[in-house]
Amino acid sequence: MAEVLDVAVVGGGPTGLWLACELALAGIRVELFERRVEAVRESRALTLHPRSLEVLALRGLEDRFLKRGRPLPTGHFAMLDTRLDFSVLDTRFPYTLFLPQAVTEELLEERARELGVAVRRGHKVESLRQDAEGVDLEGSTDAGTFRLRARFVVGADGARSAVRRLSGIPFPGTDVTRTAMLGDVTLGAPPAQPALGISNERGGVMVVPMSPGVHRIVVTDPFRETAPVREPVTLEELRESTLRIAGSDFGMREPRWLSRFGNETRLAERYREGRVLLAGDAAHIHFPAGGQGLNVGLQDAMNLGWKLAAVVKDGAPEALLDSYSRERRPVGEALIHNTLAQTALMGATRETLALRELLSGLLREPRLNRQLADNIGALDVGYAPLDVPAPETPSPLLSEWCGRRVSDMELGADVRLYAALHPGRWLLLGLGEDDSRPLPRWEPGWSSQVTTLRARGRVGRGDLEGVGGLLVRPDGHVGWAWAA
Ligand SMILES: Cc1cc2nc3c(=O)[nH]c(=O)nc-3n(C[C@H](O)[C@H](O)[C@H](O)COP(=O)(O)OP(=O)(O)OC[C@H]3O[C@@H](n4cnc5c(N)ncnc54)[C@H](O)[C@@H]3O)c2cc1C
Repeated sequence: MAEVLDVAVVGGGPTGLWLACELALAGIRVELFERRVEAVRESRALTLHPRSLEVLALRGLEDRFLKRGRPLPTGHFAMLDTRLDFSVLDTRFPYTLFLPQAVTEELLEERARELGVAVRRGHKVESLRQDAEGVDLEGSTDAGTFRLRARFVVGADGARSAVRRLSGIPFPGTDVTRTAMLGDVTLGAPPAQPALGISNERGGVMVVPMSPGVHRIVVTDPFRETAPVREPVTLEELRESTLRIAGSDFGMREPRWLSRFGNETRLAERYREGRVLLAGDAAHIHFPAGGQGLNVGLQDAMNLGWKLAAVVKDGAPEALLDSYSRERRPVGEALIHNTLAQTALMGATRETLALRELLSGLLREPRLNRQLADNIGALDVGYAPLDVPAPETPSPLLSEWCGRRVSDMELGADVRLYAALHPGRWLLLGLGEDDSRPLPRWEPGWSSQVTTLRARGRVGRGDLEGVGGLLVRPDGHVGWAWAA
């Protein structure tokens, strides 16, 4: 009888790669199956947002990514004239990191291989059958067929997910009604400003520098928005639309990649069906506005990885896996909501332009701007209390802290909170200046590994006044908190 894998991850995009990294870090036997033989060179996404950078920092990887990218202090909502000011956000990463998806994937795959993940390229999954103990997968390679059995399977296989279809999870939503175009091109006469956004009664054009000599142009043209998503884009079409809307074609030539994308919007009815789970685009698709899909996929994987590892390896109850759906599906729902709102703002009618101007004005109000920046940067994601036992502490528990995201902070000379989470374990953290009090015991009833740490002195964050300590989940959210 062939070996049974702990987890098979299907799909080697950013979501699947990060999930495989998290599982391997926890000591799970995981293999990743990707139908493409070669990595993709074109980059759909160009941005990593603050929470994604925090996710990487929670495992000590931020420098690899920061070195290859370019921080921009602002983000955007529907390309409105008033940009979102990320510089005021409460994070060590108060910016958007401009980083093409191909580089993100390269760095994630490098990490996966370092952790010993078997990345099986050229393996297309075509059939799936599950029973009470495991899941059988079958598929094809250039050389023939393959089959395997795993205790759990995660479908991170993108918008057209075979895993989702084969496990019978409905994907309700709406079909494409509008399309837009993009081109990665050389510009003979690039715009003066680093990121140009134009919206007028003729349509919308965005121009951003991608790499030396290459710009990305994104065009929403009311005359072309009914073109089918599969109709190839030509340089002439992109040029004509850009010229009509922006008054210049910026001397575009030498296209590296031309593509059309649409506003198909769907959310998986559930993220788990028995031993099969979904993450990333396999669970949610939407018009790519505000640069969020890849980011939310990474964050899905961060939420799922440690839970799946705890069930597979530590004997945690399977109910922990249901909390994945409970926590992340509402995030998918909110993502769909905000991208629908952005799509509505991308029209060229007089009404839409008036609404854009009105909202742009409102976003000059720092509080509103910050709220939306927190939302797009995914720093506002919090969860309801998780159903895990509380630490045994004589002081009262602070339930209002449960599920909150924890910012990185100094815990004493040269110790940072996120560094204590690099191993991907729970962290029992004592705060406050009285180190004579013992740290509470935490025994969840399954063999979870816990790092214990006591902050030296005051941590210098006003919001932690009166908090005696935190039990931090491996994904950097509070499990429990107790009073000083
Ligand atoms: C024009 C455009 C611009 C975008 N810009 C941004 C942005 O700026 N920021 C952002 O965050 N997001 C952006 N996105 C969205 C982002 O690209 C996706 O959300 C992201 O790629 C999702 O990652 P994933 O790993 O979930 O899925 P994918 O990247 O789609 O990866 C799925 C993988 O599964 C593989 N696969 C599929 N079927 C099988 C099978 N049967 N067997 C084995 N392997 C299989 C595929 O080959 C693929 O490699 C943009 C999208 C578009 C279209």
